[in-house]
Amino acid sequence: MVLELINNIKPKHKHRVITLGYALVVTFAFVLSLANNTSVNASVSYQDKTDYLMLENVISENIEDTASIYPTERIINIRSLFDLVDSYQREKDIQKVLEVKKGDTFISILNSMGLSYDEAHNLYLAFKKVYNPANIRIGQKIFIKGIYDNKLKKLSSIENITIQENRIKSYSLSQNENGQFEAKVIEEELISEVNSASGSISGSLSKSMNSQGVPNKIVQEFIKIFSYSVDFRRDVRKGDKFEIVFENNITKDGKVASYGNILYAGLQLRNEKVSLYRYTDAKGNSDYYTEKGLAMKKTLHKKPLSFQNARISSPFGKRRHPIKKRWIIHWGVDYAAPKGTKIFAGGDGVIQVAKYNGGYGNYVKIRHNSEYSTAYGHMWKFAKGIRPGVRVKQGQVIGYVGSTGLSTGPHLHYEVIRNGKRVNPRTIRAATGNNLAGKDLKKFKLMVSDIKSSYSKMFALQEKNKFAKK
Ligand SMILES: [Zn+2]
Repeated sequence: MVLELINNIKPKHKHRVITLGYALVVTFAFVLSLANNTSVNASVSYQDKTDYLMLENVISENIEDTASIYPTERIINIRSLFDLVDSYQREKDIQKVLEVKKGDTFISILNSMGLSYDEAHNLYLAFKKVYNPANIRIGQKIFIKGIYDNKLKKLSSIENITIQENRIKSYSLSQNENGQFEAKVIEEELISEVNSASGSISGSLSKSMNSQGVPNKIVQEFIKIFSYSVDFRRDVRKGDKFEIVFENNITKDGKVASYGNILYAGLQLRNEKVSLYRYTDAKGNSDYYTEKGLAMKKTLHKKPLSFQNARISSPFGKRRHPIKKRWIIHWGVDYAAPKGTKIFAGGDGVIQVAKYNGGYGNYVKIRHNSEYSTAYGHMWKFAKGIRPGVRVKQGQVIGYVGSTGLSTGPHLHYEVIRNGKRVNPRTIRAATGNNLAGKDLKKFKLMVSDIKSSYSKMFALQEKNKFAKK
């Protein structure tokens, strides 16, 4: 348990102690002159405190003739005054920050502040109405405000206990007018702040973005947004540029409480510029779109053939194999189609495999993003230029239907691979994005031109400053 003493003595008490020092000197002289009348009283009574306060007034108002205003019959035992000094020094207003350590419980923490089990347990129960203090975690901070008795080494009274949940939420326990403890949840209102950054990519994208003040969480989101259209391993090179407009949620005192959405993400690659904008449509769905309002997520083709009437000759799943003559799982969908029918890339991506592959015959595999790949079997032949490493667009011809490998007739065997597992191409629902149209498209275009006009100057300026620094 770490005890941090933020504030020992409040200024008003410092003032009191100093004033009291003066009071004692004066009183001592005064008492000497009245030595015969002095009585000794061991405890500090209410009347003693009144004496003390009167003396303080005498001192602070610079009244010379103390005896004229101070009743001699109440004078004065010097010992009680020393007790008073003692009690003022003993009790301090404190604000402590306690960090929860391994093995701590809410009650053990309060015990360490000198509270009895019963006292601590009562506070526990009061807290429980809004938050169960049994859930405190290691590293969590607990703020205690109250009066601490240095002599007894315990809290003599508690003004407030606050358990901090996170940067914006905390649970607070205070006494109400009736002296009962009441708990409440305190949540800070956040303000959304828009930031922009741009720069050249050298080394890793995250380092390049970090160096321009983009936090890691936003970098990860940036990569995710582009994962449908850009292969960061292949497409992004040194000297390419990024642009980003993103939100921060800040507290009233200007601290970042959480990161918001990326509003615009741009990548200037060697051959093309990819820009994506966040838009929330009339139905309330938020997604990213190209400048023209095309969805960044493209649905993988369910039937990637020029012959859209092709029938399913064998569905995905368990089936009796026509050649092997036994029940096995069919990991793709077969579409019967005439030999030579064009086969399309199911989505944008990079050719990973293009070769004769055993039972698959002529086989192509395309990696679309970190999540999805597709595979195509029994091709008659590959389209011109289709070889590993080549980038293809959705709908681009990659080959022609044939019957190579383990096949009874011309058909396309089509597989969708999600995170390394083959799934039914007919039922995948991922990567579904719809292009904007109508009113949404109009609103979207206004938003795009707004972002462009607000930030193109900013990005140009950021670029200029970089050169100026060199
Ligand atoms: Zn098949």
